[in-house]
Amino acid sequence: MSEAKLREDICRFGRSLFERGLTPGSSGNISLRLDDGGWLVTPTNASLGFLDPARLARLDAQGQLVAGDAPTKEIPLHTALYETRAAAGAIVHLHSTHAVAVTMLPEIDPKSVLPPMTPYYLMRAGQTALVPYFRPGDPAVADAIKGLAGRYSSVLLANHGPVVAGETLEAAVFATEELEETAKLYLLLRGLNPRYLSPEQVSDLVRTFGLSLQEHGAHDH
Ligand SMILES: [Zn+2]
Repeated sequence: MSEAKLREDICRFGRSLFERGLTPGSSGNISLRLDDGGWLVTPTNASLGFLDPARLARLDAQGQLVAGDAPTKEIPLHTALYETRAAAGAIVHLHSTHAVAVTMLPEIDPKSVLPPMTPYYLMRAGQTALVPYFRPGDPAVADAIKGLAGRYSSVLLANHGPVVAGETLEAAVFATEELEETAKLYLLLRGLNPRYLSPEQVSDLVRTFGLSLQEHGAHDH
């Protein structure tokens, strides 16, 4: 795919996410790995709703800016996840309401934030790890993401938002949307004793679709 098309895609998906209220103001950022080892990254202080394809930050394989506006300050989130997930071709980070909300609940299991509620959450986002709160721009958040050793394609930063990797930009966007919708379902059903997918139903999905989910204790929430 040409770089021009990829630039258009970042702006198109960014606008779509922004217009549906999935990341407010100038929050959220998107990155995409290019064939030469470099990256396209959304600029700092840019709203995902109003991106200009010509002004996206173009980084070389060493992460140095070679063209466009300065990249998002949250670039360490992206590089840490790329470093530990070789197959990641794109990363989406949002400040989406429901996903942020669940990070603040007391019962959350950091190894698997959301229970197995729908097949598409498991198929697109897998399980989601919780990373503790860090002040924006604190480089320690990158170490926390690296500490997950690439076992998760979706991570939730406490009191902040999701960071989700996909093989393509479309896959990363769709997985982020599944994560947000699943967080919304969780909040809608919290306290109502809902029936989640059973261990047998999860095993069937894992076998059929070749999912790699982490072992973890049964959800008691
Ligand atoms: Zn953020």
